[in-house]
Amino acid sequence: MKIPKVAFFDFTSCEGCQVEIANFDQDLLKLLQVVEVVEFREIMKETCSEPLDIAFIEGSFSREKDRERLQKIRQRANLVVAYGSCAATGGINALKNHKPDYKYKVEVYGADATMPHLETQKALPISAAIPVDLAIPGCPVNRQEFVRLVSDLLHGKAPTIPNYPVCMECKKKENICRYELQDTCLGVVARAGCGALCPSNGIPCEACRGFVDNPNLDSLVELLIKTGMQPAYAMAKARMFTANLVEE
Ligand code: SF4
Ligand code: SF4
Ligand code: SF4
Repeated sequence: MKIPKVAFFDFTSCEGCQVEIANFDQDLLKLLQVVEVVEFREIMKETCSEPLDIAFIEGSFSREKDRERLQKIRQRANLVVAYGSCAATGGINALKNHKPDYKYKVEVYGADATMPHLETQKALPISAAIPVDLAIPGCPVNRQEFVRLVSDLLHGKAPTIPNYPVCMECKKKENICRYELQDTCLGVVARAGCGALCPSNGIPCEACRGFVDNPNLDSLVELLIKTGMQPAYAMAKARMFTANLVEE
């Protein structure tokens, strides 16, 4: 049987999703038994220009000049998977869409802020530039989910990503709700699939996987305000990983 050729590419991102996959440990070894990785900048120096079975793309589309590179990847890949929240929705990068660009550049890069490669537009999902076959949320991607979804793709099964809130996974684990502990939590509208990782480890969910479809954002903000948060802070909290979804 022909071993599928796969490659990993990065665009605007912290590369944390690549690092996460490189740290998959035993799961990575299992993956390497069923696919041939021909390009993956974080772990190998080889590059490839051949046709691909799957192109995995990390990071947001935030520079018009990246469109051509994305289109070339699309042309030679049978399937394109946007992985990680930056690629799936714009993720945390999309916070910049709510502020004048120069402010971030100067704050982050200081005197280097005028360098040409820092000329960016709004941070958008990869699907804003090219058709994407699957978008996997998570900041970073969840190991078990990534392996399951890749396995589905390789077996020709339709991959599924939960469209119910983290609360459902949290309740199954019998965690004490953060709200019972006078804390806050976005798990009420956050997309499940991580096994309620954060509340299961004693910290609130920040919705790094984005929200379920049609989340009740008004209720979320109202709930956060009831805990004592200022309205502007509640709004900022709600859009930390979902800035392309939550308006000013
Ligand atoms: S989704 Fe998160 S971990 Fe992955 S590249 Fe973006 S910021 Fe980094
Ligand atoms: S801790 Fe968060 S995820 Fe868990 S039940 Fe409460 S609101 Fe839902
Ligand atoms: S619990 Fe929330 S913040 Fe934590 S990994 Fe899951 S979706 Fe992300």
